[in-house]
Amino acid sequence: MRERPLSIFREDADTFASYAEVAVDVGGQGGDQLFTYGVPPALASRVAPGKQVFVPFGEGRARVSGVVFRITMNPPAGRVVIKPIADVSSSANELTEEGRELALWLARDALATIGQAVRLLLPPGATDERVHARMVLSCHPAPEARDPDLIQQALRHAPAQKACWDTICSSPGLTPAEVAARNRCTRAAVTSLVRRGWVLLRPREIRRTPPSVAQRMERNGVRLTDAQAEALRCMTSDLQAPAYRSYLLHGVTGSGKTEVYLRAIELVLARGAQAIVLVPEIALTPQTVARFQERFGDRVAVLHSGLGRGERYDEWWRIRRGEVSVVVGARSAVFAPCTNLGLIVVDEEHETSYKQEESPRYHARDVAIWRARWWSVPVILGSATPSLETLFATQQGAAVRLNLPERAQGQPLPVVRVVDMRRHGGVPLFAPELVEALGSHLDRGQQALLFLNRRGYAPALICPECGYVAQCSICSVNLCYHEEDRTLRCHYCGARSRPPTVCPHCGSRFLRLRGVGTERVAQEVARLFPKARVLRMDLDTTGVQGSHQRIYEAFRTGEADVLVGTQMVAKGWDVAGVTLVGVIQADIGLRQPDYRGPERTFQLLCQVAGRAGRGALPGEVIVQTYAPEHYAIRHGVQQDFDAFAEEELALRAHAGFPPFGHLVRLLAWSPNARAAEDGAVALGEALRPLPEAVSLWGPSEAPLKQLRGQFRWHLALQGPDGAVLRSLAARALGACARHARGVHLAADPDPVSML
Ligand SMILES: [Zn+2]
Ligand SMILES: [Zn+2]
Repeated sequence: MRERPLSIFREDADTFASYAEVAVDVGGQGGDQLFTYGVPPALASRVAPGKQVFVPFGEGRARVSGVVFRITMNPPAGRVVIKPIADVSSSANELTEEGRELALWLARDALATIGQAVRLLLPPGATDERVHARMVLSCHPAPEARDPDLIQQALRHAPAQKACWDTICSSPGLTPAEVAARNRCTRAAVTSLVRRGWVLLRPREIRRTPPSVAQRMERNGVRLTDAQAEALRCMTSDLQAPAYRSYLLHGVTGSGKTEVYLRAIELVLARGAQAIVLVPEIALTPQTVARFQERFGDRVAVLHSGLGRGERYDEWWRIRRGEVSVVVGARSAVFAPCTNLGLIVVDEEHETSYKQEESPRYHARDVAIWRARWWSVPVILGSATPSLETLFATQQGAAVRLNLPERAQGQPLPVVRVVDMRRHGGVPLFAPELVEALGSHLDRGQQALLFLNRRGYAPALICPECGYVAQCSICSVNLCYHEEDRTLRCHYCGARSRPPTVCPHCGSRFLRLRGVGTERVAQEVARLFPKARVLRMDLDTTGVQGSHQRIYEAFRTGEADVLVGTQMVAKGWDVAGVTLVGVIQADIGLRQPDYRGPERTFQLLCQVAGRAGRGALPGEVIVQTYAPEHYAIRHGVQQDFDAFAEEELALRAHAGFPPFGHLVRLLAWSPNARAAEDGAVALGEALRPLPEAVSLWGPSEAPLKQLRGQFRWHLALQGPDGAVLRSLAARALGACARHARGVHLAADPDPVSML
């Protein structure tokens, strides 16, 4: 049987009690629009701003989830078809006023659809009607179902429904699946009870992950340094009588930023408010996370990727109900549904992982600042190597800079030596200086960390006779040789193949490996120092969950002498036994076609060098490079942030790059090379005419011109006003999306990668 279409015309509009503007969750569709639906009189008492509703969308009869943003009494102007809201979610999911404003802002700022933004702000899985119901709802007799006898009577010919009804009355709180299982029937029996209004579904109130960390409030006798105390003193009034202010806490590695966060949070908790702490990645910062748990015990919720969807849902509700005081998590924790927010901390605020690289492309630091403003509370952005955007904000008076110039335990910063690898002809892996230093530190029983931001054995297989280089067949990148299983691997799509024994071009049998990766470095250490115990930490050795932690623990407890690793080892770690840090090739990041290359190189050098000498013994750092005169390397080895920032800002100002201007990158990709190009050209045309002061680069092939079989083209808008660029990009995307076939189009505001 076909149902009548749900739509009615305006002439019949008085059948609606009111009209609701709804953000619908339809993936990438819908743009930044709200859609108007009619509110049937029967639902009028339950429809309100923030309520989750289910509405028909599109040509079919599909129901999608949506959130009501506004209620109006007047129908929209013009002759339009208005469909009614089909249902109101019986769950308690509701978007607060803050959430609605934040979603509207995200849609503009991250060039997302409102539906995508809303998804970030509701409990995990909440927009999926089916998953939601199956996973987290429990059955209760409806208060309206006052007359059980009448219900018994009505169900006398429906034994399955009757059995389920009895179960729900005698043990309310079971999920529909559990009720059905007890009565050996399908869930349809429960569903029909729900439909008749006798059973209500409510979010289950049982928590799936009881925390195991005991509450320990003692401070382990930590005394604050003068700089730490001064930083806290500056923030105290904003924390106690809360007011919005953005603070940059610039502290050299080991200067005790975490202790400042902890004390600031204590002040916030003392007045009954909540705090959010963002860290770049939970797995890479176990020590930081542990310190929050130690200090605040059960009042901490740690949101990490290991949680299942149900566990996340529970944590979400625990935060919403105010049972959690401190939320610690990576990027998406910035959306934690705190109802009495007092402070947001963004640790390592310069990290690019705070930017989501797929739609919605939000930056967690920007969201943190938005929320702090909304709540009129402070936000602390901490880093040893602040982003130039944040530094610039302090220079403009938009943020307050606080400095921690010394290490908390008074250890000196390590002595750094730069080795010019051009002096050592050929391509030796280790300069004699590094070999000698490794030998003497190992002889003294001390530990060494060797850093190379490239995994595998060798990054290229080449034919010296004809110039052939082995490349991935579906990505435009060189294949990397891995010794452990003797394969060539693509680090972008993961494809593996056997290396050819003869050159596929000229048939030469003298193929060569070129360059070095962490695997080769570890092998070379083992060859030079056969007694040394060597560990390696990179994506290849940390694939299994928890393996990162195991390698770290093994190294920290002295089970290994040398740790070789990629940027994973540069993060906020504290291994007291490390006295030597060797940087194998400091300039890798400078060769990428990306204006942020020098900034990343500087940050990594500072972070890596900061790992040395954190215990009682002084540290030594040896940096091998082919570009010792480059300012990112010179200032990086000195950990001189201000000197680096001065040079880099001058270059950025000259080029109009962020933070002096803004960029919006537009991408077109397709399995068909021509379609990708056409898509980019069409975008370029749709962007014109350009307003004054806005310039457009491209369209051109992206530096990574093919990725996983998709051909990629890009364009970039540049100009002084980010909002102007965003609305230009949104308009062009909207214009092209309608007739683009076989090509994906997207815009990336303030991109962190230009590849
Ligand atoms: Zn060849
Ligand atoms: Zn590939």
